Amino acid sequence: MTAKLLDGNVLGQKLRANFKQRAEELALLGTRPGLAVILVGEDPASQVYVRNKVNACAQAGFHSEKHAYPAEVDPATVFAKIAELNSDPKIHGILVQLPLPKHFDSDAVLDAIAPEKDVDGFRAENVGALMQGQPCFIPCTPYGAMKFFEDAGIAVKGKEAVVVGRSNIVGKPMAMLLMHAGATVTVCHSQTRDLKGHCLRADILVAAIGKPKMITADMVKPGAVVIDVGINRLPDGKLCGDVDFEAVKEVASYITPVPGGVGPMTITMLLGNTLESAERAARA
Ligand code: NDP
Repeated sequence: MTAKLLDGNVLGQKLRANFKQRAEELALLGTRPGLAVILVGEDPASQVYVRNKVNACAQAGFHSEKHAYPAEVDPATVFAKIAELNSDPKIHGILVQLPLPKHFDSDAVLDAIAPEKDVDGFRAENVGALMQGQPCFIPCTPYGAMKFFEDAGIAVKGKEAVVVGRSNIVGKPMAMLLMHAGATVTVCHSQTRDLKGHCLRADILVAAIGKPKMITADMVKPGAVVIDVGINRLPDGKLCGDVDFEAVKEVASYITPVPGGVGPMTITMLLGNTLESAERAARA
């Protein structure tokens, strides 16, 4: 069997067309959704991610600002900028590109963002609300992954879901969203015994590990839906996921490619969260 492709570029464009239209409607009421991105340091991957986010804003008709600082910047400068953006009515979402240099306390930086502008959903208030099933900003990567199920009509309720990875930004919120959607969820990590045994039970398998091609075909139940969050750069410069795509696509029923799967959906949901924030501000 060859799996159906869950294409993040196609789904992302579809959702972004809707966001663009909503942004135009909002503009008629005098509000243009605005995102501010803070970048510290010269990490090439972060620079690419930030550029993509700023370009995506422009295409959707959003206002965007990039505030870039050298790696050795005094954290006080960044805190001051966040405080300024928190009270700037043009800005509805603030994103600090991670990772930050070592002399920064990343949690303190994220906590400095006003909760109503925390479009990445990383602040404790948003994490708690997500856990309680309350309205909140859902972290963009797992939010984007969930959209694939909705769009392709893949039922989640009652399914066995296995999430490999337990980070705060991907694994944990992904598990929470799957649980809210009615799946029975197992979270695996580096201390898990018999990873393969867990994976083989999964109707829905999410890989968020950061290890190239770690999920091999013999770890996947025939007909499973496989979501590959991983983005890894191989020595030849090419990108690949955490899933051995070529082999696993012969076993799975659906699979996301890397690149072109979860990645574009992350940016799409960042736009979605920024738009929601702007809509809320316009209603207030
Ligand atoms: P982290 O490094 O924070 O977390 C990785 C997780 O994988 C940890 O929970 C770790 O376990 C687990 N892990 C590591 N080795 C193993 C192993 N051998 N067996 C089982 N579990 C293991 O990464 P992130 O969650 O931030 O990102 C994961 C991947 O997703 C990366 O490739 C990243 O680039 C990508 N990513 C992609 C995004 C997108 O837009 N598509 C957005 C964000 C991330 P433990 O907790 O025990 O250490």
